[in-house]
Amino acid sequence: MAATATTSVVPANRRRVTSQPDDLDFETTEGVEPIMSFDQMGIKDDVLRGIYHHGFNKPSAIQQRAVRPIIEGRDVIAQAQSGTGKTSMIALTACQMVDTSIREVQVLIMSPTRELASQTEKVILAIGDYINIQAHACVGGKSVGEDIRKLEYGVHVVSGTPGRVCDMIKRRTLRTRAIKLLVLDESDEMLSRGFKDQIYDVYRYLPPEIQVVLISATLPHEILEITSKFMADPVRILVKRDELTLEGIKQFFVAVEREEWKFDTLCDLYDTLTITQAVIFCNTKRKVDWLTEKMRSNNFTVSAMHGDMPQKERDAIMSEFRSGTTRVLITTDVWARGLDVQQVSLVINYDLPNNRELYIHRIGRSGRFGRKGVAINFVKTDDIKILRDIEQYYSTQIDEMPMNVADLI
Ligand code: ADP
Ligand code: MG
Repeated sequence: MAATATTSVVPANRRRVTSQPDDLDFETTEGVEPIMSFDQMGIKDDVLRGIYHHGFNKPSAIQQRAVRPIIEGRDVIAQAQSGTGKTSMIALTACQMVDTSIREVQVLIMSPTRELASQTEKVILAIGDYINIQAHACVGGKSVGEDIRKLEYGVHVVSGTPGRVCDMIKRRTLRTRAIKLLVLDESDEMLSRGFKDQIYDVYRYLPPEIQVVLISATLPHEILEITSKFMADPVRILVKRDELTLEGIKQFFVAVEREEWKFDTLCDLYDTLTITQAVIFCNTKRKVDWLTEKMRSNNFTVSAMHGDMPQKERDAIMSEFRSGTTRVLITTDVWARGLDVQQVSLVINYDLPNNRELYIHRIGRSGRFGRKGVAINFVKTDDIKILRDIEQYYSTQIDEMPMNVADLI
């Protein structure tokens, strides 16, 4: 099987949209009514223009319910399925909330990865174009000097990762006195072991009357329980666990029995991977390096990204993948959450993820905003029970991969 480098992807308008994400079920705090159009939400004209110009005609289900309470200043916990417009909602509410006549940071958004924080910054700059919004991605791996320059020049919104944001606050380069809204995207991850202390650290520097908004596709109980520590009577918009997997993403498994057989299975699937774009998840950086090397030495074109690479290289790989110049990306869970590349229609779990939440986030890299997606899980004999557990937990169906899987993409 010869691998050919390809430069274009199937245009988005040729892909079938299965269901619009505006008819989903939620468990919401009493009094939250869906608002069916952006016009009726009380959004400033110039922000509305930005929203429409960005290609959003109608609010998605979560946007219909959560935009209003956020812009009214309420603390909000908002959960919705992957790819249904949560991060976009952060961007548009940030634009609405800032007073651009005041050149100070008024909204602080924190995300778990540099790529996600930068993606959110880009959406803010796009939607906020008509109000001339100043936003800055304050993330690790980039020049500290540039951060200082941007922050001292004055920005309205900072979208960052915890380490760098903490650092900038402690240097007093990021002044917090005018911040009125803190948003944690992928909030269950932000409040989990790895980040929690840094988040609390940042929180201590914020004004006491700060508004807090938490966003994620997955909000396990233990996370909801700790929210009372820093949120005041929040509006909750939640999704039942059995409604968290999207209809549009078909899930399959291949019984590979043993680790050694995964590689050949992947090679057999290569033509399917390149129909549009695909993301392949491994559980370690070493495995990403190993698999990438092995694919390449077998003449397959693949790209790879993980957290040990220099940021410059990560950025280059991201931009090639976003543009469709590269089509197959082998990566770790650094890619599991939030990243939005609409042409991704296939996700492969070369290794099963280490927890149930990650499963939802990984497969959610495909099937963005109602598009079709396919997820394929490679399962060794002793992985079968893990997959069955996921299937049960989300009341979903994961069938054996059919021969004609390429037809489903
Ligand atoms: P989530 O954070 O829920 O995973 P995103 O905000 O990343 O979802 O949005 C997923 C995709 O849907 C993005 O490509 C975004 O541009 C698009 N999108 C979001 N909201 C709308 C909308 N109201 N109309 C059309 N497209 C939208
Ligand atoms: Mg998101």
